[in-house]
Amino acid sequence: MPHRAERRPIRELPDELISQIAAGEVVERPASVVRELVDNALDAGATQIVVRLAAGGVRGIVVEDDGGGIPRDELPLALRRHATSKIARLDDLERVSTMGFRGEALAAIASIAELSITSRTADAPHAWRLDARSGELQPAARAVGTTVEARELFFSTPARRKFLKSDATELAHALEATRRHALARPDVGFALWHEGRMVAQWRSAGPDLASDAAPRRLADVLGHSFVEDSRPVDADAGAVRLRGRVGQPEAARSRADQQYLFVNGRHVRDRLIAHAVRAAYEDQLHGSRQPSYVLFLDIEPQRVDVNVHPTKIEVRFRDGRAVHEAVRRAVEDVLAPTRATLVPTATTGAPAHATWPPSAGWTRPLFAREAVARDTDPLAGWTTLRGTAQGSGVGTRVGPDVELPGPAQRAVEPGSGSAAAGSATPPQEPDAPGSASTDASTHDALARPLGRAVAQIGGVYVLAENHLGLVLVDMHAAHERIVYEGLKAAADGAERIASQPLLIPHAFAATPAEVACVEESAPALQALGLDIDVLGPATLAVRSRPAALPEADLTELARSVLTDLRQIGASGTVQRARDELLATMACHGAVRANRRLTLAEMDALLRAMEATERADTCNHGRPTWRQLTLKELDALFLRGR
Ligand code: ADP
Ligand code: MG
Repeated sequence: MPHRAERRPIRELPDELISQIAAGEVVERPASVVRELVDNALDAGATQIVVRLAAGGVRGIVVEDDGGGIPRDELPLALRRHATSKIARLDDLERVSTMGFRGEALAAIASIAELSITSRTADAPHAWRLDARSGELQPAARAVGTTVEARELFFSTPARRKFLKSDATELAHALEATRRHALARPDVGFALWHEGRMVAQWRSAGPDLASDAAPRRLADVLGHSFVEDSRPVDADAGAVRLRGRVGQPEAARSRADQQYLFVNGRHVRDRLIAHAVRAAYEDQLHGSRQPSYVLFLDIEPQRVDVNVHPTKIEVRFRDGRAVHEAVRRAVEDVLAPTRATLVPTATTGAPAHATWPPSAGWTRPLFAREAVARDTDPLAGWTTLRGTAQGSGVGTRVGPDVELPGPAQRAVEPGSGSAAAGSATPPQEPDAPGSASTDASTHDALARPLGRAVAQIGGVYVLAENHLGLVLVDMHAAHERIVYEGLKAAADGAERIASQPLLIPHAFAATPAEVACVEESAPALQALGLDIDVLGPATLAVRSRPAALPEADLTELARSVLTDLRQIGASGTVQRARDELLATMACHGAVRANRRLTLAEMDALLRAMEATERADTCNHGRPTWRQLTLKELDALFLRGR
């Protein structure tokens, strides 16, 4: 073997080889062919699309549609590279509204498979069939529409064929490709057949799309549980509109297999948006769990470049930051209200997917994001939200740590910010305007979605009765979230969290590392509402503590915060690090297990949960409460109603 290959002259590649090289970018596996052919059918205005596969698609893929068809004279053109009916000028490329535009797919498929197209337009007396290999054009029988048939994929490139997986795997990929199309187009009927057996069928919602078409299609494709365990998104942020559904945090999955994003109707993968959604779930997901979502982002075509990837699976936004921010906010807003407040207004109990977008029949989330009081006292947050009740009820205590004002507590603490007082509806006001039309039980459901406390069991759980049945609350987890949200609100916009000086400084024995940390991190500690002094080489003293954590064990609190600070190091000012510190503090501020609560204290906890954002999960993503409906209770006792 010579060391260096002998140089060959530069030559243009034969057309066939160019096509095969180009095809490699477009057609990776049978599912890519399915995706391209279904794209074409949709672009042709199809309302019914049938996909038939043999051996996972490797032996054959047939896609039939009832779209507009291709005129006889244009059939040979359809197979040519860079031949398309969808764009004509550079201008057009900047506002593509079709799935295809590159004019590559059919040419690519023809170069790696045996391809034929049978098509008939509305004004043609019969169909024509074009065989790609021979170029033969023959009359054929077919209704208006197009059938594209690709057989023996990669037959001429055995090296690539070897990369294919088992038929079952290729089928799964093809099914997934079809599923994505089906999610985006509830107005179109889809069927997928494999080896003569129907694998999936999604019926069209009809031309004049029923209002519940989209969630119905979501339920058909992803299962009812997806719709039941998710919330609708419908947000308009100027240039960006976001619709779809996002899964409840506690319904998150171990794999990221239910995350669908469509940009202007096209399924894409986009790390920017995936990151934005993930950020909206921050501190609501347990461990490394993955949220489910189906999101449709609509944006002016000029603001997004769809021509960055041969398979169009990626896009590039002109203003990525704005899109990121719009998506994060929209999803955050949807996740913020507790599930408890999203009760149907009708006592008929409309199913979760009855309307989408959620216009009629659903209450607005009781507490909009903006309505949360940015107050120094985390509990003042819910006091002001709960609003306008008069009188001077007595505050109740939950556990040793935090005072929870009772339901009749004065609305606004003297001296506390009352900016939010007017912005939230006080839903528990019996004679509030607008409540006249709702009957008493609905009203109660709205006012106290989590119901009335009835007991505490195991020193851990609060039991309550609401309009649906039994509510079980993990009191520590729930209170932890309440304190945490309060601390976050207090830290936002304030230089430091309100702190309260101690009459007698709280001294405790400390390790040299802890002492060093105090010396290095005094400003960070103060920002958290903690003043800690060094009394000696092995002694620290807390001089003031966060006002929001009145009776937390100060030694434990200080030690945990110092441990966190040491781990976080210099980045302690970063939002995320700050939130971690606040989460640690919240844990110490939250009511402990085995603390006996009075009914009034338990009720106060339920009301605080209703008024707290993200109250459905604790800071670690574990659920804080569960509902057992009367129906489920009946089922437990084999009782028929
Ligand atoms: P592109 O979709 O990017 O235009 P393709 O190679 O996928 O490129 O298709 C080439 C052309 O063939 C399309 O522009 C369209 O005019 C026509 N065509 C392909 N499939 C269909 C179909 N199912 N129904 C009607 N026309 C089709
Ligand atoms: Mg195409």
